[in-house]
Amino acid sequence: NILIEQTDPELYAAILAENRRQEDHIELIASENYASPAVMAAQGSQLTNKYAEGYPGRRYYGGCEFVDVAEQLAIDRVKQLFGADAANVQPHCGASANQAVFLAFLKPGDTIMGMSLAEGGHLTHGMALNMSGKWFNVVSYGLNAKEEIDYDAMERRAHETKPKLIIAGASAYSLHIDFARFAKVARDVGAIFMVDMAHYAGLVAAGVYPNPVPHADVVTSTTHKSLRGPRGGIILMKAEHEKAINSAVFPGLQGGPLMHVIAAKAVAFKEALTPEFKAYQQRVLDNARVVAETLTSRGLRIVSGGTQSHVMLVDLRAKGITGKEAEAVLGAAHMTINKNAIPNDPEKPMVTSGVRVGTPAMTTRGFGMDEAHATAHLIADVLDKPRDEANLAQVRAKVAALTQRFPVYR
Ligand code: PLP
Repeated sequence: NILIEQTDPELYAAILAENRRQEDHIELIASENYASPAVMAAQGSQLTNKYAEGYPGRRYYGGCEFVDVAEQLAIDRVKQLFGADAANVQPHCGASANQAVFLAFLKPGDTIMGMSLAEGGHLTHGMALNMSGKWFNVVSYGLNAKEEIDYDAMERRAHETKPKLIIAGASAYSLHIDFARFAKVARDVGAIFMVDMAHYAGLVAAGVYPNPVPHADVVTSTTHKSLRGPRGGIILMKAEHEKAINSAVFPGLQGGPLMHVIAAKAVAFKEALTPEFKAYQQRVLDNARVVAETLTSRGLRIVSGGTQSHVMLVDLRAKGITGKEAEAVLGAAHMTINKNAIPNDPEKPMVTSGVRVGTPAMTTRGFGMDEAHATAHLIADVLDKPRDEANLAQVRAKVAALTQRFPVYR
């Protein structure tokens, strides 16, 4: 870091300030985590200098013998981690992993089916302004009256509309997803079955959330959420799809792979194969359950009635505060959170009536159930008196006491 300070003091100041923010705030954004120093070191390595278009052993550039080792390690480890036939570790992010699947199997105008953004899906699953919504005819499914995925309606719509691709996976759904049920529907209507497990990947790797790999034709994921690797994407697939997916990623969608990020993915997959990682993910689940129960005891409603994962959606209406305001006041109290629409939300998407809360990051810094319990009370304390500056200052002091006990990067 001394090098950055000498070369670019302005940028260095921003990095230092961000480091401090990450230490001083309780991170509750469900899609964020703290990568290990080894993951970050691999990302900061000389591998950033190397062009390596192609795949290990079949490159369009010379000098790839060592980056080949890095990419093969990442492929072998991620296959072992999830029990996959084949893997592509080159997608630059989750969105580009999903695009590569579309490119491999679809033509513009084809029908796809995904979970609606308003009810928990991701924007790459068919939202109108996303490429997936602009290029394809989108049929959506959502939740039933119990705020569980409406499998019956999904099945009915699939038979009516015969989508070419069905996507399971979500960004704001706290319960287990019945991948076997989706797979059967896809088989019955002749659709490719894709799962986007970006949110759940770390839990899946540890065996504490259902594994979609045995059920799906292809499984996409990010590597930086619960999986705790560098920012990036991956695609796992049945052997029969390997050729189509690999050629969709390169040369279909991307040029040179980010070899430093692939190296960091290899490190993260190695970490995820350890017993410590399994224990970590169990703590993520335990902490999420404690946060949900504590928020419920303080008069807040958890969408879908609770959580079976790392994430939950909190309905704020009982407290008379919007998601937008809650995000701001919790931020002022040094708890980072994102506003999120709840099912049938009466507010606009930039306002919302809910917040999404996740436990992967707090658990990485060492929070156990006592700290998760304390954090949930601090959230409720803020929401009870959101416009009381003295209250916010009091909570901020309690957050500081907690975060100082659990530094992220010593
Ligand atoms: N898929 C799901 C389910 C996600 O939640 C996200 C990110 O929020 C993505 C894909 C996109 O990942 P990225 O931001 O890396 O493009």
